[in-house]
Amino acid sequence: MSTDPSGFQAELKQEIDRRRTFAIISHPDAGKTTLTEKLLLYGGAIQRAGMVTQKANRHQTVSDWMEMEQRRGISVTSTALQFDYNNICYNLLDTPGHQDFSEDTYRTLMAVDSAIMLLDAAKGVEPQTIKLFKVCRERGIPIFTIINKMDRPSLNPFELLDEVEKVLGILAVPMTWPIGEPGDFKGVYERPNRKVHLYERTSGGQWKAPVATAGLEDPHFAEMVDEHDRNLLDEELEMVEGLIHPFDVDLFHEGEMTPVFFACAINNFGLDNFLDHFTELAPSPGALKTVEGEVPPETEEFSGFVYKIQANMNKAHRDRVAFMRVATGKFQKNMSVKHLRSGKKVKLSFPYRLFGQKREIIEEAYPGDIVGLVNPGLFRSGDLLTAGKPYRIPSFPRFAPELFCRVHLADQTHNKSFRKGMEQLGEEGVVQVFYDPRSYSRTPVLAAVGELQLEVFKERMKEEYRCEVRFERLDYTASRWIVGDFDSPEAFTFTLMEDEAQRPVALFRNEWHMNQVIGNEQDLTFLPHPPDVEA
Ligand code: GDP
Repeated sequence: MSTDPSGFQAELKQEIDRRRTFAIISHPDAGKTTLTEKLLLYGGAIQRAGMVTQKANRHQTVSDWMEMEQRRGISVTSTALQFDYNNICYNLLDTPGHQDFSEDTYRTLMAVDSAIMLLDAAKGVEPQTIKLFKVCRERGIPIFTIINKMDRPSLNPFELLDEVEKVLGILAVPMTWPIGEPGDFKGVYERPNRKVHLYERTSGGQWKAPVATAGLEDPHFAEMVDEHDRNLLDEELEMVEGLIHPFDVDLFHEGEMTPVFFACAINNFGLDNFLDHFTELAPSPGALKTVEGEVPPETEEFSGFVYKIQANMNKAHRDRVAFMRVATGKFQKNMSVKHLRSGKKVKLSFPYRLFGQKREIIEEAYPGDIVGLVNPGLFRSGDLLTAGKPYRIPSFPRFAPELFCRVHLADQTHNKSFRKGMEQLGEEGVVQVFYDPRSYSRTPVLAAVGELQLEVFKERMKEEYRCEVRFERLDYTASRWIVGDFDSPEAFTFTLMEDEAQRPVALFRNEWHMNQVIGNEQDLTFLPHPPDVEA
């Protein structure tokens, strides 16, 4: 007799199996926006490349929306894009590209099952790539590598693989190999199935590239590739076979080995075979990791966690959206769930699918999917919502801020809106907001990792909350959260602040001072992130 008479479990499993939730990590300018757009193009989510972003015509963007982003051509906000291709449902979580916004990116990486590391073929591994790679590594998620801009003069493919291995400490195995000299890219040889893909340039890469596929012995290949390139490929392939480890799925799943693909995103070259391998190798949604242990996604009861909050995403709506990743079970519109941090029951009546600025109400969602919830101020990053058992999840990583300033409002009549902006932008993680526990006026102190965060804060305060603010820089360059009992903070040489959850944070003038204090205060623990919060 069937134990699943309604077929619910079978349906749930099928939906989980066909999902791939991932992010692209890269250094700014490597081509992430271009790749995102091309993947959407392949998935049929957009009809023509150029809709996500085109530098010359940025008002048409889908994934970028802030005026400041448009002016500067950087991506500081993120959204979630869903597309279907060959019956696989992809959730691409867009991560902000600028290094100052890594905190936001960190949180997004908590919600993916795999990542694509995108490198510029001429530049190799760059600083931002290293930072983001480390986050993925710590989470133990599998990482694919795409080496982009192969149409331009690039480093030698062997040098690039060597750099990935040496700098990142991960085994790099080429799944495809470029044909042609660097800068004269003709196509790729796909090693696992011994096929050659030759590309033709398209006008501006607007449509899918017509791709000629053949075996190495095919006469078509001999026609399109001259003897020099042919010999070069033979030589290089011999070296690859002799020198490079065979691909090992287990090592890949453990995050110890990365399959490498060569591509030219702007012309769609190399993306079709990448997508095939990605679909086959990328894991479907995994278990929810809780303090109590792993909860499989097939668990009947729904649960999901908020990984990101975004205020004023859409000028027409002016509300706060909480991005929730469905972790277990099936999500349904109007369902009542428990919000564990507050203990409240909430009815999720307006769940959205977000596609850049556009949003549409959804009826249901499965593990790996991202649901936008209009946030009445209740949700925070790291919150768990569940229709089942009250699990606790570990808190999200955070950077210890290194830049600090008091923030003053120019016109006091806007005080209410100032407080609101402070709360909402702090909640989003645009900056962290600290307070001096001894100050009666509670003048907030903004804490950031990079200058751009402060600029974005100022700009959004003006645009979205109509508040002109002025910064007063403070002379600290390091901070740590403190754990332990201390009665008289006056006895310490650091400055004591509190974060938004009233957890004590120490600010230090410099690293040397910080290390002195850490060495001297053996009874206290100093953490570069907040201690785990009890749910
Ligand atoms: P992001 O900052 O990582 O999002 O990078 P973009 O996608 O905005 O790309 C940065 C620049 O590189 C843009 O001028 C793109 O047109 C260009 N670009 C992206 N992919 C390629 C490629 O495959 N070949 C070449 N030549 N340029 C590319």
